[in-house]
Amino acid sequence: MSVNTMEWEAVIGLEVHCQLLTRSKIFSGAPTAYGAAPNTQACAVDLGLPGVLPVLNGEALRMAVSFGLAVGAQIAPRCVFARKHYFYPDLPKGYQISQYELPIVAKGRLDIVLDDGSAKTVGITRAHMEEDAGKSLHESFHGQTGIDLNRAGTPLIEIVSEPDIRSAAEAVAYLKKLHQLVVYLGICDGNMQEGSFRCDANVSVRRKGEARFGTRTETKNVNSFRYVEKAIDYEIQRQIEVIEAGGRIVQETRLFNPDTGQTRAMRSKEDANDYRYFPDPDLLPIVCSAEYIEEIRKALPELPEAKKARFEAAFGLSAYDAGVLTGERPLADYFEAVVKASGAEAKLCANWVITDLLGALNKLGKDIGGSPVSAQALGGLLGRIADKTISGKIAKEVFEAMVAGEGDADAIIKAKGLVQITDEPAIVAVIDQVMQANPEQLKGYRSGKDKLFGFFVGQVMKASQGKANPDAVNRLLKEKLAPPG
Ligand code: ADP
Ligand code: MG
Repeated sequence: MSVNTMEWEAVIGLEVHCQLLTRSKIFSGAPTAYGAAPNTQACAVDLGLPGVLPVLNGEALRMAVSFGLAVGAQIAPRCVFARKHYFYPDLPKGYQISQYELPIVAKGRLDIVLDDGSAKTVGITRAHMEEDAGKSLHESFHGQTGIDLNRAGTPLIEIVSEPDIRSAAEAVAYLKKLHQLVVYLGICDGNMQEGSFRCDANVSVRRKGEARFGTRTETKNVNSFRYVEKAIDYEIQRQIEVIEAGGRIVQETRLFNPDTGQTRAMRSKEDANDYRYFPDPDLLPIVCSAEYIEEIRKALPELPEAKKARFEAAFGLSAYDAGVLTGERPLADYFEAVVKASGAEAKLCANWVITDLLGALNKLGKDIGGSPVSAQALGGLLGRIADKTISGKIAKEVFEAMVAGEGDADAIIKAKGLVQITDEPAIVAVIDQVMQANPEQLKGYRSGKDKLFGFFVGQVMKASQGKANPDAVNRLLKEKLAPPG
């Protein structure tokens, strides 16, 4: 069926579960490391065995507060943990410790920029701390389900957006920005494949001009940006078709299937009341003093937007270059170290990092942390361009050798005899030789075929094995090629 999507508007709100990078669980000392043998990293507290008492991990609280400050939110001076009751095999306690009426973070915002350059602000309703549940493993158990409780008690913040998002593209822009932020803050490893950053997408549609929201569905645990985009687009289209065919949307939880690109109903949505939330009697309310919050604010790292603005202002970079270089903190740090080590112009450093270094890393399938060329080493190379020891072209050759592990720039330049020829009599000697060897071209040039100038530049560069200083070659050739007299 074809529907006229022009008449419709999508309304989207995202809930993001973000695993905090603490070493131990949110209420116990058990380790949080990923990938251990099943059921080796959950302790009695994580399982909620009788007689245990949870104790809040101070580091998890600090991370939640730093997130709140980074999105300009209010930090609750007093917040409480609540028990959220439901039955599921990977939740042996029968309840999850979460926050309900009094979350730690409320009323924040995130500014996003879309591909067409337009900007928009998405409200963050709240972010609350909670513990993760275990995992049910349905695969490879011959029809049975395995339970791995290692993840039980891993600290999370659940970040809930306002229903401000209007398209799958906006949803992806919001998620990428949020992802970048939590990784910058050092509170999440951002690994979506391992589930460290996962998204539930609430989607409804309404006719344009309609003031009220439509009924929403919630597609659970989508763990890549591309899947989020696909799941939302599918859900928008599906809902429009249902309504145009005279049906109605039921509020329900749905699952996205990456193989088909479709969502399907999983369960009808329980009413929030069904969870029978009540304050957890085992945990004291958390009181955050103004001094405590200020201390965390002071310790916040420079955030992506501020860093980008500084790169534009201090280094004279374009918005695009500054955006690429500040995309990830380690890359931004690398770039700054190159500028410092090279003494070369920032623009030259930016070009090399963005084009040559990222290109090489891409070929090697490595990220900046695994770069075979350190910032010091690249700085050393660019310093040799700046002081005119080598030309930019020769530098490419040296860089390739550096990537191949042949040593630092100076060693390679020496070993390969690549030092640039700036000595003018030496260049003139090469020019004389080239002129003698090409009398026809010389005649042609002198009779007005200006294009042949490029030919001579090429010949001189070739004869000097690329080592002649290009500026000097151009200037001296102009003099020598001019008709005599
Ligand atoms: P629940 O616990 O039922 O999922 P939450 O309040 O935690 O409820 O989250 C609701 C999410 O759904 C928020 O992100 C909110 O912006 C979004 N939302 C609410 N109403 C709609 C709607 N009609 N269409 C789309 N999204 C909605
Ligand atoms: Mg929800």
